[in-house]
Amino acid sequence: LTNDQLDKWDRESFFHPSTHLAQHARGESPNRIVTGGSGVYIEDRDGNRLLDGFAGLYCVNVGYGRPEIAEAIAAQAKELAYYHAYVGHGTEASITLAQMVTDRAPAGMSKVYFGLGGSDANETNIKLVWYYNNILGRPEKKKIISRWRGYHGSGLVTGSLTGLELFHKKFDLPLDRILHTTAPVYYRRENLASSEAEFVAECVADLEALIEREGADTIAAFIGEPALGTGGLVPPPAGYWPAIQAVLDKHDILMIADEVVTGFGRLGSMFGSDHYGIRPDFITIAKGLTSAYAPLSGSIVSDRVWKVLEQGTDEFGAIGHGWTYSAHPIGAAAGVANLKLIDSLGLVENAGSVGAYLKQALTDAVGDHPNVGEVRGEGLLCAVEFVADKTDRTYFDPAQKVGGRIVGKLLEEGVIGRAMPQGDILGLAPPLCLTRAEADKIVAATQTALKTVAAEL
Ligand code: PLP
Repeated sequence: LTNDQLDKWDRESFFHPSTHLAQHARGESPNRIVTGGSGVYIEDRDGNRLLDGFAGLYCVNVGYGRPEIAEAIAAQAKELAYYHAYVGHGTEASITLAQMVTDRAPAGMSKVYFGLGGSDANETNIKLVWYYNNILGRPEKKKIISRWRGYHGSGLVTGSLTGLELFHKKFDLPLDRILHTTAPVYYRRENLASSEAEFVAECVADLEALIEREGADTIAAFIGEPALGTGGLVPPPAGYWPAIQAVLDKHDILMIADEVVTGFGRLGSMFGSDHYGIRPDFITIAKGLTSAYAPLSGSIVSDRVWKVLEQGTDEFGAIGHGWTYSAHPIGAAAGVANLKLIDSLGLVENAGSVGAYLKQALTDAVGDHPNVGEVRGEGLLCAVEFVADKTDRTYFDPAQKVGGRIVGKLLEEGVIGRAMPQGDILGLAPPLCLTRAEADKIVAATQTALKTVAAEL
């Protein structure tokens, strides 16, 4: 098929996610037909080879073109492409993967329920939280607290948990029972005079006030990403998680760590929960579980929750929660091969060391620029936030589309970054196999892109 034919069909038939629908249909936004990839690079039909500084949607963690995973998928497809996982059915791949995941999970978490993507895994978590409290005879304890700027998916419940206006407005979200508390973004604190410790105390006080207002006996769970992802790639202020965890423990509120982005090494630790001292009752995993070679997600459940869930199944003879594709053999085979590669290539350690190098190099290159408010990151989750005025942190007029323009220029330099939806933020979350030389390329491109756009303002 010619590019022109594909372009025509695309605009006629393809309803793309997260896309300006009218502009795309009118042909005003480009189509990129991606044909291949190797390591941190992707290739397209027009002959471009681009350094993918966002690992797809921060998911291709082992990098593109890994034959070990492709071969595992092919072998599984030939042997048995599908059988369900209901009432005790499994495959060697799905059982092995369950064991590999729980071996890597924080202490006290020894069961995993498999789904397809991060959104459905979070739906599972919320349903299990409600089921748990029903079994315990606490039908009122059902509300879930999330954070502004959190991202937990695009479904009805998960879109409600997401704390970004774009995902609520015009969709009649958030649903009842879902509440939001302060975003742990120190750079954007209201009181600029607050120290980091004071800001953490403010976050805790806001959470306490919300719990007080609603009544602790109505709050079932708290959900958060160890480091904010889509809301701006923001590591938490020091001491944030232990302080939040103490509030949750005090009020018997379950903790859901959404590790769809941070799970399996992105922060330089196997899980963000280990990295920041979170004690989760549920961990959501997806993306890095298979490095996106096949769709697969999971909800890892703590032993204390499991013990209660087990008591719930006598009435109907089963738990009334199942997906056709739960523990899909092909996804499971990809997951096993992927986790083996993460270990054998030392990618968790690499994310920590090359991530620290990237953050320092970005800071050295653009940190002093008058339009750079903050360079931040943990492991290979990095961001540069652009501001109109460095001293008082004023945002650019959104009509100037500064973040989008910088990402556009970055692309001209051969590097893919992501303009995050809140403010003017360049998101960088490359594959975990990134080398220092490739990090240098990202930094040089960022410097050029910033210089070009700043000169136009
Ligand atoms: N949770 C987090 C933290 C995410 O970043 C995402 C997706 O980016 C999701 C959940 C939703 O995952 P999915 O898009 O696979 O449904």
